[in-house]
Amino acid sequence: MPVRQTETPRSHIFTVGLTGGIGSGKTTVAQGFAAHGIRIIDADEISHALTAPGGSAMPAIVTTFGTTMQQANGALDRVAMRRLVFSDPGARQRLEAILHPMIRSECVAQLERADSPYAMLVVPLLLESEAWRARCDRILVVDCPPELQVKRVMARSALTATEAHQIIAAQISRAQRLAAATEVIDNTGSLSALHTRIDALHQHYLLESAKPFSKS
Ligand code: ADP
Repeated sequence: MPVRQTETPRSHIFTVGLTGGIGSGKTTVAQGFAAHGIRIIDADEISHALTAPGGSAMPAIVTTFGTTMQQANGALDRVAMRRLVFSDPGARQRLEAILHPMIRSECVAQLERADSPYAMLVVPLLLESEAWRARCDRILVVDCPPELQVKRVMARSALTATEAHQIIAAQISRAQRLAAATEVIDNTGSLSALHTRIDALHQHYLLESAKPFSKS
């Protein structure tokens, strides 16, 4: 007689979803956990690879949007695409319909291969998607005031303050993000304060992931 399986399948690795607004410090935090040997699966990195020269999403993007969204080297023209999706919600939906399923299946494949005590899934839009939330055992939010986000984004990229504010306004609100968090990293302070917090959280997640039924 078949035995009903009640335990978490072995293929499920304890997964910490890391999210936060643009410029909040997700990449910096992920690097801190990676230094502890934690496997990081980064949806943005996967998205970049899919839209790089020869990327698997490029044929569908060219079919849908034409060659004007493609650079001479075959990669997605990110600046042109960002402008289009901000002015045309339908275009955003068409782009997401191409990219999101591809990103999701690559993330799942990487999680299945992860060999660390727990894994970290870095997804900027984690909280906007129930499928992503459901895949995560914990939700870690990196938080800092919007003024600091804008300042940090402008220091690292060619985005203007207006563009940075536009991106922040298009994302889930700070309050909603904080309400969904199981843990929060306040990244208002120094990098060394950030690393102290990361070290403590890593110890916490090691303990949590070792529990037999750690999904709450
Ligand atoms: P995100 O991945 O969320 O967009 P990043 O980790 O790339 O954010 O951080 C944005 C910028 O701010 C980067 O240049 C990063 O080095 C810098 N940064 C992050 N945290 C701090 C901090 N606590 N102090 C100073 N600079 C920081």
